[in-house]
Amino acid sequence: MKKIFINEVGPRDGLQNIDNVLNVDERIQLIQSLEKAGINSLEVGSFVSPKAVPAMDKTDALLEKLSNSNSNYSVLIPNTFGYKQAKENKVKEVCLVLCATESMNKENINKSIEETIAEFKEIIDLAKRDQIRTKIYISVAFECPYEGLVSSKYIYHLTKEFLAYGINEVVIADTIGAGKPDQVTKLFRSLVKDFGSSNFSAHFHDTRLLALSNVKAAMDEGITKFDSCIAGLGGCPFAPGASGNLATEDLVSMLHKEGYETGISEEMLRNSAKLASQLTS
Ligand code: MG
Repeated sequence: MKKIFINEVGPRDGLQNIDNVLNVDERIQLIQSLEKAGINSLEVGSFVSPKAVPAMDKTDALLEKLSNSNSNYSVLIPNTFGYKQAKENKVKEVCLVLCATESMNKENINKSIEETIAEFKEIIDLAKRDQIRTKIYISVAFECPYEGLVSSKYIYHLTKEFLAYGINEVVIADTIGAGKPDQVTKLFRSLVKDFGSSNFSAHFHDTRLLALSNVKAAMDEGITKFDSCIAGLGGCPFAPGASGNLATEDLVSMLHKEGYETGISEEMLRNSAKLASQLTS
């Protein structure tokens, strides 16, 4: 049976995009419930300014309390300062986010794409030395809320540049849920043809209810690793009321129905989804 790997992003991407701020113990409760369901790869926090993102404050304390776990935890960092904090807290994998349009990148971290690439390369150099795994999200990879359609050639170019520089993983992210299966097919076909499939994963949103179709399109091109978010937490920051991150329970259910193995219990996952709703409502 073919295995598909799921990286759970609820404890970071989900929780930071809702109004309720959970305390460290509540965040840990959610993470441990997901681990109990069989998830062993999770984005658990970030090292960003607590003023900008109060929901991710005290990620250092959270990591300290989780230090006995065998799961793979990743943490989002926006710059070299965040990298230093991640290293001090013994993080083994850091996530970088580069938006593929100038307007979105400016909105996200207030820097140009060129400045961001330069700083991320410094981080990759440090991480190689420190043996910390690096992963880059290429955000708004299909469409940007400010600049419209994004050229797949440009995404290919960015991907090539980071892979050549030694990034460990490139995550193609449809941040506003605007991508369609034919775009997903086209992009991954060209990437996998030249770089193989093992360095890629995909992050889809359900804003237009196309996330699962996009997952299938990516799987057809050989992609075996996907992000998802328990209970679809987080919504879509650019479309009030719209659903956002692909829900982990939907993804796992679809994969099991199609005969794929995930190592995750659907029953336990339902408990995690319930817990996520309780903690955030
Ligand atoms: Mg997301």
